[in-house]
Amino acid sequence: MSATIIDGKAAAEKVRAGLAERVLRLKQKGIVPGLAVILVGDNPASQIYVRNKARACENTGIHSRVERMPENTTQEQLHAMIREINGDPAIHALLVQLPLPGHLNEAEALRQILPAKDADGFTLANAGALLTGTKGVLPCTPRGIIELLKGAGVPLQGAHAAVIGRSNIVGKPTALLLLRENATVTVCHSRTRDLASVVSKADIVVAAVGRPGFVTADMIKPGAAVIDVGINRLGDGRLAGDVDFDRVRETAGWITPVPGGVGPVTIAMLLANAVEAAEAYAR
Ligand code: NAD
Repeated sequence: MSATIIDGKAAAEKVRAGLAERVLRLKQKGIVPGLAVILVGDNPASQIYVRNKARACENTGIHSRVERMPENTTQEQLHAMIREINGDPAIHALLVQLPLPGHLNEAEALRQILPAKDADGFTLANAGALLTGTKGVLPCTPRGIIELLKGAGVPLQGAHAAVIGRSNIVGKPTALLLLRENATVTVCHSRTRDLASVVSKADIVVAAVGRPGFVTADMIKPGAAVIDVGINRLGDGRLAGDVDFDRVRETAGWITPVPGGVGPVTIAMLLANAVEAAEAYAR
């Protein structure tokens, strides 16, 4: 059996087409949705992500504001920039590109973002809304993962899902969203005992570890859906996920590629969060 390859680019395109129509409706009311990105320092991967986000905004009719701050920015300077953008009426959604340089406190910085303008869903108010199942902004990658699974027709209700990784931006919120979809969720992490045996029982596997080739074919139940979140730069410059794609695709029922899987749909969900913030502002 060979897995159905879930096309993240096509899924993202579909989301963006729907958003472009909503942007037009907002423009008819005199509102141009605005997304601001703050980038501190010169991390090369972050520079690429920020450039891609700005380009995606332009292609969807969203106004983008990018603030590049130097590596030696102080916590107070960063907070002042966030507060200024919180008060900018042309901006409806704001994100601080992570990771921040080591001398800056990420949690403190995220606390400065107005929850209504929180493009990434990382503020405490939105994390709490996710935990309690109330209305809030959802983090982009987890929201994109659910979009991919649903779009591919993967049954979620009652399914056993194994999420590998427990970060605040991917693993934990993905587990909560799968739970919201009535999956039975196990979260695996670096201290999990006999991870392979846990993962091999799962109908849905989400790999968010950051290690190329971590998920091997022997860990995958035949027919399972495998979502590869990892982005790893190999020695030869190529990008690879956390899953041994070529072998796992022989066993899995569905699989996402890297690149072209979770990445594009994550950006589409960021745009969705920005448009929804502008729609809430318009009401
Ligand atoms: P992170 O480093 O914060 O978390 C990694 C998690 O993996 C940790 O919770 C840790 O417990 C777990 N882990 C590490 N070693 C392990 C092991 N040996 N066994 C089991 N678990 C182990 O990373 P993150 O921010 O959650 O990102 C994970 C990966 O996803 C990275 O490659 C990152 O670049 C990628 N990512 C991709 C997107 C996207 O849009 N496609 C978005 C965010 C992150």
